[in-house]
Amino acid sequence: MATKQSTAQPIYNISEDIVRSAIEVSRNPLVITDNSLPDNPIVYSNPAFQELTGYSFTEVLGKPYDFLCGKETDKKTIAAVRRAVRAGTRVRATVMNYKKDGTSFWNDLTLAPIRDEDGNVTHFTGLFQDITSLINAAQRQKSLKEMGKLLARAEATQQRVKLLAAQKAELIKLNRSKDEFVSIASHQLRTPATAVKQYLGMITEGFTGEVNHHQLLLLQAAYESNERQLNVINELLRTARIDSHKYHVKPKPENITKLIRQIIANQQPIIDVRSQKVIFDDSIDYVVPVDASEIGLVIENIIENASKYSPPNRTITVTMAKKDSKLVINISDEGVGIDKAHQKIIFDKFTRVDNELSDTVTGSGLGLYWAKRILRLHKGSIRVKSAIGQGSTFTLTLPYE
Ligand code: ADP
Repeated sequence: MATKQSTAQPIYNISEDIVRSAIEVSRNPLVITDNSLPDNPIVYSNPAFQELTGYSFTEVLGKPYDFLCGKETDKKTIAAVRRAVRAGTRVRATVMNYKKDGTSFWNDLTLAPIRDEDGNVTHFTGLFQDITSLINAAQRQKSLKEMGKLLARAEATQQRVKLLAAQKAELIKLNRSKDEFVSIASHQLRTPATAVKQYLGMITEGFTGEVNHHQLLLLQAAYESNERQLNVINELLRTARIDSHKYHVKPKPENITKLIRQIIANQQPIIDVRSQKVIFDDSIDYVVPVDASEIGLVIENIIENASKYSPPNRTITVTMAKKDSKLVINISDEGVGIDKAHQKIIFDKFTRVDNELSDTVTGSGLGLYWAKRILRLHKGSIRVKSAIGQGSTFTLTLPYE
């Protein structure tokens, strides 16, 4: 075996046998390949190599230097090693190799060229080191770190869920308190407002002596204001009741045609005051199972709105038709109309949308919210089709048996 000597250092003589013996007893697995033969075959392997791989010297003799690679060895790494060997340069790589019994191991491989005196690469030394346990430990650490991160994330999510649940519970509590407040306040308000109505009625009717014309006008104005106040209180109470979720409707067969005829008759005085007209084709009697008092209030509110949000001299048209298994009621007006954006929110609680007539009419923004809830309890629906300045059509559907 040739040894290169530096001129600056003293010359020590060491025989090839001594070097060979050292390699033989070395605990580092090692092979030597012959670069002058095709495929760079292995021409020497030490006992440590056999201990690592299970292959004896006779078994590896003549095998290509990369014969320990297998199906899970990274292709790019093998290509890089082969390129280095072809170029005659030293290369170090971590590759997945296979032992004789088929088990894999992570190999920290170093291939170093051996040159002759002219600098030509004659052989390669292949040094092996099994670093499987190191890599496994690193991977375990990585997994542990990732698991730690996942756990931390799961814990944070759990905290957030807990917080949201607490906030939701708080909101439900607040909402319940608000509903209770509305309910209690409305009850407290209704009693005195009803008493005022009775006293005003008694004075107007002359129970306390004659009333002159001027007094009568003032009393009528007070009576109307009190009426409006009672309407709002009643709407608040109805809404509080429906929001309590203890609300049930009691449907029984009702003649809807008759119901609507009655509602129009009740509203005729105010419709006349506005010089408006209602067209209602009442030639067919439609009998549908509904809670008449609730559905009556819903239809009354929609017709009232149709009149309220229309200028004088306009027409309100009410039609009914049976479609599939539904009764469809259309209430159309020629009023101010509602733009697309607002059509989505008018069914929300306490929603009033400004329009050119809203200053002149009163309302609580509860009528349509309540209507939607009542129709849903009847397994029916309500929707609106409208455009600004072109009137609105409210379509109500009810299951028709
Ligand atoms: P309100 O007591 O304000 O009338 P509603 O819930 O009945 O409450 O209606 C909500 C809003 O929807 C009203 O403030 C109004 O802006 C709009 N709206 C309802 N009906 C009509 C209609 N027929 N034409 C135009 N706007 C309407």
